[in-house]
Amino acid sequence: MTERQTTLETTVSIEGQGLHTGKMGKMTFCPAPANHGIKFKRVDLQGQPVIDAIIENVISTDRGTCIGTDGAKVHTIEHVMAAFRGMNIDNALIELNMEEIPIKDGSAKFFVAAIEKAGIKELNAEREYIEITENISIEIPEKKTKIEIRPSKRFSLNVTIDFESVVLGEQTAIMDDISEFKDKISPCRTFVFLHELEFLLKNNLIKGGDLNNAIVFVNHQLPQEEMDYLSDLFKKPRVKVNGNGILNNLSLYFDNEPARHKLLDMMGDLYLLGKPIKGHVTAYRPGHHANTEFARLISEKISVVTND
Ligand SMILES: [Zn+2]
Repeated sequence: MTERQTTLETTVSIEGQGLHTGKMGKMTFCPAPANHGIKFKRVDLQGQPVIDAIIENVISTDRGTCIGTDGAKVHTIEHVMAAFRGMNIDNALIELNMEEIPIKDGSAKFFVAAIEKAGIKELNAEREYIEITENISIEIPEKKTKIEIRPSKRFSLNVTIDFESVVLGEQTAIMDDISEFKDKISPCRTFVFLHELEFLLKNNLIKGGDLNNAIVFVNHQLPQEEMDYLSDLFKKPRVKVNGNGILNNLSLYFDNEPARHKLLDMMGDLYLLGKPIKGHVTAYRPGHHANTEFARLISEKISVVTND
């Protein structure tokens, strides 16, 4: 049985704020022909440069995965990439009028909804998978990170995080089949520790952040004046810490939502291989740097195989 490549039936737009710049922008998903892959187009720049969403174009993995070529870049692509992978879309052109993807609620839910709204169309070309034929692994000892992929007929992931903190210790998320992505993974939002958030806000590194686009973990009891300061910062009348160490901005969809979000990030980063993978991934303490290094390693091993 052969599967066919897909694209979108029609175009669809999403508007929203960038997390780091705070700017409002518009993103439009457009249909693309077979073997086009996923590409981003900066329609706000002269010449409207197009950036292929491939591992070779990764230029930074600091607080999100950023790709770029010839001075044009796109920040925080991972949640959109996860949505396209999770919804089995092979080809699309993503037009964007700013340098980062709208953060929306910090998950992939809005991107999945947009894809469904546009509709999915099969193309007259066979889908090619990256088939893993031997175990491939990477270790980053200073971060206690280990990622491995082994041969499998499907794409599945088992992701464990451990922030060695009272409020966020070890937890695991599992996706056995891509069909689980939409309901179990795509709504899972990004998260941050309060001390990181304060640092980022004070240093102007996030401007579009408010209490609606991240789960905020609080590691220690905060004095009232600190809470008042946060209320001001977030422009909310009453900020408090719930029993599970989470700020009262939102409640968790799943107990292991943070681990599920890291699984989502990993799907997005691995889709920079340009084709879907068949293999079973096991990851301990992954992150964008490790994920993209791992994708690079897979890419090298595959090119060796095809050159034989
Ligand atoms: Zn993320």
